Amino acid sequence: MTSAPGNFLPRLLPRRLPRVCVAVSASDAAQLIEKAEALSRDNSFLELRLDYLSRPALVLPRVRRFLELHAGTVLVATCRRAASGGKFRGSIASQLEILSKAAAAGCRLIDVELQTAVRCKPQQVQKLRSRSGLILSFHDFRGTKKLDETLRKMLAHPADFYKIVSTATTLSDNVTMIKFLERESDKHSLVGLCMGEQGIISRVLGVHCGSVFTFASVGPGEETAPGQVSAQALRTVYRIEQVDAATRVYGVAGDPVSHSLSPTIMNAAFRRENVNAVYLALHAKSLKDLMTCVREIPVHGLSITMPYKQSILPHLDNADSHTNRIGACNTVVRAQDGKLYGFNTDTSGIVRPLERRLSTLEGARILVLGAGGAARAAVFGLKERGAEVYILNRSTATGQKLARQARARSVKRQDLKKLAFDVIINATPIGMGNTRESPLQEQEINARFVFDLVYDPAETRLLKLARERGAQVIPGIEMFVHQAARQFEIWTGKPAPQEEMLQVVLLELQERAARAASGRKTS
Ligand code: NAP
Repeated sequence: MTSAPGNFLPRLLPRRLPRVCVAVSASDAAQLIEKAEALSRDNSFLELRLDYLSRPALVLPRVRRFLELHAGTVLVATCRRAASGGKFRGSIASQLEILSKAAAAGCRLIDVELQTAVRCKPQQVQKLRSRSGLILSFHDFRGTKKLDETLRKMLAHPADFYKIVSTATTLSDNVTMIKFLERESDKHSLVGLCMGEQGIISRVLGVHCGSVFTFASVGPGEETAPGQVSAQALRTVYRIEQVDAATRVYGVAGDPVSHSLSPTIMNAAFRRENVNAVYLALHAKSLKDLMTCVREIPVHGLSITMPYKQSILPHLDNADSHTNRIGACNTVVRAQDGKLYGFNTDTSGIVRPLERRLSTLEGARILVLGAGGAARAAVFGLKERGAEVYILNRSTATGQKLARQARARSVKRQDLKKLAFDVIINATPIGMGNTRESPLQEQEINARFVFDLVYDPAETRLLKLARERGAQVIPGIEMFVHQAARQFEIWTGKPAPQEEMLQVVLLELQERAARAASGRKTS
């Protein structure tokens, strides 16, 4: 471990710093301190982004008073210059003066960028260390490259922590960062992570791979860096304080995945059942990138979503016969032999809610709208249970092909008004993200049950029309919970806590709807 001269850290800092430092920013001094006050109840480690203030020096007397009242809080003062990716537009001399005053006010850590350190005399930076610990930082806003070379340059400047923050443009960039941390953290006190949506792996796993701590945002909309996760999510969703060498890594892989509810539902299930595992959203722009990450991290299981449900199959060691028949895989598990096996739990997600409601699926007349991945899971699963399946798809040829493969029937839209079904299943994306669109008109809904696989919004236009026609409705959230529950069972061998899973996902959907509504009001 680098032991820099004049190391005051033992008396300045607690023996073990918290794993999460919350980055706090505000446009005025009063608001910054107000936020720090509110946060300090649950967070004893805060970074004050002084560079977000138009006159940073003015906040320092308030910082001193804050620390008199909150002696246990460790504050990091950061006044990053615009040239290094921050907002401070003053000279290096004024940056150092502000940081020096911040140290005098009681901030126990001062962040100085490498770009500043190389442009001033070594004594100027070292002087800051007479009162506080020094984090020497470097940010790469483009990629994750030359980490060793950057560290070598940084080591020319004695510091207490060397912080290297890069940008993940691929999932594999996390692998590069994690291997770097594992290699170097025995020798130096490092803080390392990747920014960007794809950097989530490094933000959650970095602390157990050698990063002394990581950064989090105050909450959604308050990020000071791209891809920053809120402190609350890091602690309660990803359980960062418990991540250790035995923690198994799972994730949902697709493009896009930023709106996926899977991390919410799966992490809740792991927490509830005391499974030492963490589940991440893996934004994979290519399968090659995903498979590198799966091999190197290593990842123990995946939920596969669009557009990889079909194309993942050749990358797996094997898949069960049902999955091969459907030609789509939504679940990957790493077996004890290290091999990757594919399953399709979408079928369970569709069949289980129907089996709960219908006495039997044998002979039930079921119309499936769509012929994509979800429709295929429905059609093959229902046929296996003896249902009489009808298919209606926008592209007639695709619908007819699926009907032939599964020995189902295809129907024409104009015939719908004359036909009656036990169940209609919407397996198209129509109705997703709005309450206006429906795949069927009211008169076309002649069924006892209508199952909309779309789950956001919870009450789609199709379900509303179906209710008005007197049908019983099954919301898409039921499929979501059942397919996730089955994945949990495959991965852990334990029964899934379905009720808890349903509740967290309903809550998340409500919160999203409320955020969207307040966004509409303010815009
Ligand atoms: P997919 O493979 O892309 O298939 C989409 C199907 O919908 C295709 O048959 C397509 O017809 C049809 N379609 C697309 N846009 C249409 C439009 N504007 N008008 C009419 N038909 C249209 O997608 P998927 O994976 O099967 O998913 C379908 C939907 O199911 C998703 O949007 C999602 O909401 C839902 N889903 C829900 C869950 C859950 O857990 N609740 C799980 C998986 C999927 P063409 O053949 O003509 O392109």
